[in-house]
Amino acid sequence: MNPLLSSTLARRAALLATLPVLALLPLPDFWITQANYIGLYALVVLGLVLLTGVGGLTSFGQAAFVGIGAYTTAYLTVNMGFSPWVTVFAGLAITAVSALAVGWITLRMSGHYLPLATIAWGLSLYYLMGNLDALGKYDGILGVPALTLGEWDLSRGRPFFVLVWAMVVLGAFALQNLLDSRTGRAIRALKSATQMAEAMGVNTFRHKVGIFLIAALFASISGWLFAHFQRTVNPSPFGLKMGIEYLFMAVLGGVGHVWGAITGALFTKVMEDQLQVLLPQLIGTSGSYEVIVFGIVLVLVLKYLPDGAWSLVGRWLPAPRRAENWAQAPALPERNKPAHGDVVLDVDQIRKQFGGLVAVNDISFQVRAGQIVGLIGPNGAGKSTTFNLVTGVLGLSSGTVKFRGEVISGLPSRDIAQRGMSRTFQHVKMIPDMTVLENVALGAHLRGSRGALSAMLRMDRGEEQQLMREAARQLTRIGMGEYLHEQAGNLAMGQQRLLEIARALCSDPALLLLDEPAAGLRHKEKEALGAVLRQLRSEGMSILLVEHDMDLVMDVTDHIVVMEFGTHLMEGTPEQVQQSPQVRAAYLGTEH
Ligand code: ADP
Ligand code: MG
Repeated sequence: MNPLLSSTLARRAALLATLPVLALLPLPDFWITQANYIGLYALVVLGLVLLTGVGGLTSFGQAAFVGIGAYTTAYLTVNMGFSPWVTVFAGLAITAVSALAVGWITLRMSGHYLPLATIAWGLSLYYLMGNLDALGKYDGILGVPALTLGEWDLSRGRPFFVLVWAMVVLGAFALQNLLDSRTGRAIRALKSATQMAEAMGVNTFRHKVGIFLIAALFASISGWLFAHFQRTVNPSPFGLKMGIEYLFMAVLGGVGHVWGAITGALFTKVMEDQLQVLLPQLIGTSGSYEVIVFGIVLVLVLKYLPDGAWSLVGRWLPAPRRAENWAQAPALPERNKPAHGDVVLDVDQIRKQFGGLVAVNDISFQVRAGQIVGLIGPNGAGKSTTFNLVTGVLGLSSGTVKFRGEVISGLPSRDIAQRGMSRTFQHVKMIPDMTVLENVALGAHLRGSRGALSAMLRMDRGEEQQLMREAARQLTRIGMGEYLHEQAGNLAMGQQRLLEIARALCSDPALLLLDEPAAGLRHKEKEALGAVLRQLRSEGMSILLVEHDMDLVMDVTDHIVVMEFGTHLMEGTPEQVQQSPQVRAAYLGTEH
């Protein structure tokens, strides 16, 4: 086994093995009980780290999913005599159905609908639990049986400590595994780069529903454990107040980091207990003053420690290093490419209106296999909009686009990507806190198939190495081989553009669309880019190139289409375009 991989495994096993040791220490029972609650909270907050911290989706309704897990097991064990080891799955199933329903309805809507919907969901479930006769109304269900393993009672202090914290630690490992995988890279794109992710073939909606589901399942497990720890359930721990508190823990601990979940749960629980003792002594009267202190602490944290308390610790830890063990991985299969000279892209009378502005006015042109076609024109001519129309990022007002003989206009950009069209963006779209290699591997998303479960269980490593090998190969090819493990956010502008090209190449495209790839590149880098483009062409690649650097355009293109104010001004060979008075006038802004 790879040494880096096995050292990770050893570290993880050691962490798990400390749990029984901790439980055997002569700590006061009170502390063990507190630790058990912290573990129960941390499980829920782990889900929120994935959902809110990484995915950028806010939920106030996690307590309701905890409630589903708790009530399902309480009802089925008390009233129907099921074993708790069975009811955990029943709880997960009911949670999954509810989460999919809530997610399916709300995640298509943008912005604030999800938080609002989760508030409504949290409230309605709370009142449902409180009003159903079968669930004991506000008194709840009493006499929930203990969790036993043979003769062993796992619901009591120390054994429960080992159980709940083993779940927390395994959950944290599963999430870490997930975030470092094909699916994880797609998830990490959800917060700030959905358009780019879709253009790389990621179904962002499905991934949003997916993380909503995973977060709900974590909460459900916590509820199951909670019911058998308390030995009774009633609605109050599953209301909106608790839903807000979970989110509070996540923010406090560090919503973007797996270990932030545990930090936040720990901090909140300890602070809550201390304040309940301290505040009455300080103020003299009793009341829920801790809520006020909580609010103040939250504001301070958001202002001075926006990445949460964990960031204080995390910044001293060494960055995880990726094992470079892909050399032996088999190459990914490649798609069939069009024969030299075939029409790859056929753009026919495409049009885009933004209100009264006709940004692209009935433009037509073709790209043939093995050809580099330049699309030029002054700023605002409609070149980027044309790119967005061809790649499905924007919808057409009218006209058709055919790719390899098939009409693709109207398809979502990820379906177009799947057919072998890949692009870069004029305004670089990458994920700054991922490494260069990971960013580029996102381009190969459609060439892998392993999903979340297989990533969590680390059964995706074979495919992962293939994806990494391909990403490294494309980066090396484009002269970025020394930056594989650099954070993408640290790159200079020119390098970021090269990253975009490598990412597009990673999808094994039949047509490559490059939007101003040379902007911000130094002279040497431009020459290298020119060489790469020529090499790609010699391998049969077709390229549509938008570029302002005329030396590069004239140097590499076979054919040029000139746009002005959204219209087709002329087209021809580089020589014809250079000699055209119309083009000169357009660029110099003179009347013609
Ligand atoms: P180019 O890439 O050739 O510089 P663009 O395609 O970016 O030009 O823009 C063409 C015209 O369309 C510009 O006038 C621009 O302001 C306008 N435009 C582009 N995108 C939008 C949009 N999303 N909404 C409204 N107007 C837009
Ligand atoms: Mg542009």
